[in-house]
Amino acid sequence: MKPTVVKIDNLVKRYGELVALDHFSLEIKEGEIFGLLGPNGSGKTTTINCLLSLLAYDKGEIEVFGKEMTPVSYDTKSQIGVIMQNVAVIDELSVRENIDYFCGLYVLDKAKRKECVDWAIGFVGLEDFENFRPKKLSGGLLRRLNIACGIAHKPRLIILDEPTVAVDPQSRNRILEGIQQLNREGATVIYTSHYMEEVEQICTRIAIMDKGRKVAEGTKDELKSMIRNTESVTIEILELPEDVRAKIASQPHVYETEYDGNKLTVRCSGGRHNLIRILGVLQEAELGFGRVYSELPTLNDVFLEITGTALRDSKE
Ligand code: ADP
Ligand code: MG
Repeated sequence: MKPTVVKIDNLVKRYGELVALDHFSLEIKEGEIFGLLGPNGSGKTTTINCLLSLLAYDKGEIEVFGKEMTPVSYDTKSQIGVIMQNVAVIDELSVRENIDYFCGLYVLDKAKRKECVDWAIGFVGLEDFENFRPKKLSGGLLRRLNIACGIAHKPRLIILDEPTVAVDPQSRNRILEGIQQLNREGATVIYTSHYMEEVEQICTRIAIMDKGRKVAEGTKDELKSMIRNTESVTIEILELPEDVRAKIASQPHVYETEYDGNKLTVRCSGGRHNLIRILGVLQEAELGFGRVYSELPTLNDVFLEITGTALRDSKE
């Protein structure tokens, strides 16, 4: 059994009347890339801030590396790397100086620090921008600098709060691959996002949050097996008489049909050959149709079934 890195027990955080975290619990083991997935306002950042003792909370217990976390847990904090949602770098310092500054909070030895800074610059691919001020960097490069500042001291636990929001695809991929590499090299990772595709891509375990509560937790396969939906069939079709739709709806395993005048979506639970049966009904009725595709459930379907609303999954 791997040691526990983070344990959050029954955390409650209120902002006045608003309950931002409602008896939220979590246990993260060494070696995980743990995803906190939830829409904006679900409490991800609040969780991170409480976890780091940057924010006082109303109730609950938090342990990191087996010790109670407090505002003065400097030894524990030196083993954590934090990449905050809002980029926090110093405008007056160059890329290299920024990384050196943040690394210097934990690594005092100069030679060792230089090694760390060189490594971090290479790791995020900012070699050509070492002497640039942050203001001269594109959004994606700035995010990479933010990450380099958080990881240069080689922390055992790395926390990234929505590190890919408003980032170009190239930097996004680089960031996601970088996280996986740091994890392979031994770091435990906490990754928050409202992009389900990213969480599916890199996280070994996922907690889905909604309105300050944990609504589901597991590997992506476990989460998907919790829901009824096993397949969504979509058919482009311009004309669909109600009796034909009803016939499709009555096929085995079909539990929901949705038609918007252009596209028919059929949600199925279990069973095989759903697609063939549905197309069979259309052919029998001699109706023409365009593109057809069948999709396995996504984490969005999990969120939808559990909470009744869709998790926004479009790239901003
Ligand atoms: P997320 O990171 O998942 O988007 P947050 O943790 O930032 O969510 O916010 C959770 C809830 O707490 C939201 O309803 C948000 O409006 C509220 N909130 C966050 N920070 C504050 C604050 N400083 N004062 C009052 N309300 C806040
Ligand atoms: Mg947030």
